[in-house]
Amino acid sequence: MTQLVDHLIIGAGFGGLCAAIQLDEDGERDFVVVEKAGDVGGTWRDNTYPGAACDVPSQLYSFSFAPNPDWSMSYSPQPEIQAYIQRVARESRVLDRFVFDTLVTDATWDEDSQRWIVRTDGPDGPTTYAARTVMAAAGALSEPRLPEIEGIADFQGEIFHSARWDHDVDLAGKRVAVIGTGASAIQIVPEVQKVAGHLDVYQRTAPWVIPRNEHHYSSFEKRALRHVPGLQRAARTAIYWGREAYVPAFTWKPALAAPAKRAARKNIEKGISDPLLREKVTPTYEIGCKRILISNSYYPALDADNCDVVTDPIAKVTGDAIVTADGTERPVDVLIVATGFYTTDLPIAHHVRGREGKLLADRFAETGTAAYKGTTVPGFPNFFFIVGPNTGLGHSSMVFVIESQVRYIRDALRSMRINQYATVEPTEAAFAAWNTDLQARMASTVWSSGGCSSWYLDEHGRNTTLWPRTTFVLRRLLRSFDVKSYTVSARVPALRQAQDDAGGTTEDQEIVNA
Ligand code: NAP
Repeated sequence: MTQLVDHLIIGAGFGGLCAAIQLDEDGERDFVVVEKAGDVGGTWRDNTYPGAACDVPSQLYSFSFAPNPDWSMSYSPQPEIQAYIQRVARESRVLDRFVFDTLVTDATWDEDSQRWIVRTDGPDGPTTYAARTVMAAAGALSEPRLPEIEGIADFQGEIFHSARWDHDVDLAGKRVAVIGTGASAIQIVPEVQKVAGHLDVYQRTAPWVIPRNEHHYSSFEKRALRHVPGLQRAARTAIYWGREAYVPAFTWKPALAAPAKRAARKNIEKGISDPLLREKVTPTYEIGCKRILISNSYYPALDADNCDVVTDPIAKVTGDAIVTADGTERPVDVLIVATGFYTTDLPIAHHVRGREGKLLADRFAETGTAAYKGTTVPGFPNFFFIVGPNTGLGHSSMVFVIESQVRYIRDALRSMRINQYATVEPTEAAFAAWNTDLQARMASTVWSSGGCSSWYLDEHGRNTTLWPRTTFVLRRLLRSFDVKSYTVSARVPALRQAQDDAGGTTEDQEIVNA
C-alpha cells in the first residue's frame, strides 16, 4: 500500500533531525523520517571507536535552538554528542514520525501525481511512500570506503572499518595494524597503542596535526553557562568568529596559516624524540590542503616503543600479515581500516530518479557532483539536499550549515504553501551561474593549490565537497527562497484534495515561471 505524506526526510542525523524539528515548528506535521539504522545520530551513532570526539567545540557544534550548558569539555567525546542528539530528538516530540531500521531503496519522481514515489525496506517489509517533497539528509560521511588492496578479502584475522568498530574484539596484547592517518585514525591510534602488544600505523600521507587546547568545564562554569543570561550565546559567538578567522588562510592566502604550521611542527618536536620519525611524519604539502587535525596524544603514541609508522606502500594483505612494496611482511592479528568514506560520489545519488527517470548519479556524472546552493538540482523537482554538494567545511561547525540549509528549505516550503506551487526546481541557468562562481573561487583555495590529494576533490580534481567562502556568506545566501532562480508549477487548490486522493493528474498543473 502507498502512504501519502507531504514530506519524506532521509536520515536521522543532525540534518534530518533539524529538518524534522523545524518543519514541525512551522506546522508541517505530515512528514516521515526514514532512517536505515536503529537510532538517531548519524555519524555520531556510527563512529563509536575509542577516542572518537569532535574537533569543533561543542558550544558551536550543537543546535542554536537547543543549547546545552552541560558539555563536559570543549571538544566533546562521541558518547556525549550522541546523548545530546538523542535528548534533543526525545524532547522535540517528533520521534513519532521516525521510521528506523528502514532503508530507502529508491526515490522516483512521478510526473502524473507530482510526487516522489519512495520505496523503503524495513522490519515489516517493503513500504512505498508518495511524498510531495524529499529531503536527503543521508550525510556526506556515512558510507565507509574500504581500501582496494590485493588479498584484503582473504585476511583471516579480525578486520573492521573505523566507523563500524567491533567492540567484541579485544585488542589487549595483540598485533594491530591501522591503515590510514586521517581524522579518525589519529584519534584511534593513541587508544590502541595503550593496549596493543604492537601497533603498525600505515601512513600514505602525513597529516598536519596541531595541539588540542582541551578545556574541561568546571561545575561553576556549567552553572554560569546555564544561569547567566546570554553567557552561552556569547561563548558560542566568540567561538564562531574565532573559527571564521581561519577562512582567509584556506580560501585566499595559505601563507596566513604560518602560525598553525609552526604549532604543528612544535607538536611533532614535543611528541616525538626520534629525528627519523619526526621527518617521516612531517607533511610535505601546504597546511589546510587536507583537513587540519588536532591531537596532543597522536605523536607520543607514534613515538612509543610498541608502535611503528610504516610509510612503504602496502603491496598486499595475506591471511595473517601486511606486505609492503619493499617485501617486508608484518604479522597482524587485528586490521583496523581507517580509510574514510565515499564523499564525492554521494551514495544516495544512485537511488534517486528525477524527471524522465534520470538517475541523479548520471546527472552528476555529466555535471560533476553539484547542486544549486548545495540544495536543489535541475530535473529533480521538490528534492532538497541537507549537507549537499559544496556545503562542507574545513574549519567550523556543520550544524551551522545544516541550520542555514534547513532555513532555506523551510522558506521554500512556505513559498510553496502560500503560492500554491506544486513543484519548485532550480533553472539550469541559476545552477550553472552558482557553480561557475563557486568553482572560480576554488582556484585560489589551499584545497586546490596546496599540493595534496584529498577526499574534498573528485576524480577530476574538482572540489565538490567544500564551501569556499565564510559561513556567514553561506547563511546570507540561504536566508530566503529565491523563487526567481526556479521554475515552479502551480497547483489548482480546488483540485488539490482530489489530486491527493486520486494519486494526482497532470491536467491540474500549469507552468507559471519557466
Ligand atoms: P580520511 O580523512 O579520508 O582519511 C583516510 C585515511 O586513509 C588517509 O590517511 C588516507 O591516506 C588513508 N587511505 C585511504 N585509502 C588508503 C589505502 N588504500 N592505502 C593506504 N592508506 C589509505 O577519513 P577519516 O579519517 O575517517 O575522516 C574523514 C572525515 O571525517 C574527516 O575529514 C572529518 O571531516 C570527519 N571526522 C571528523 C572527526 C572529528 O571531528 N574529530 C573525526 C573523524 C572524522 P591519504 O591521505 O594518502 O589519502
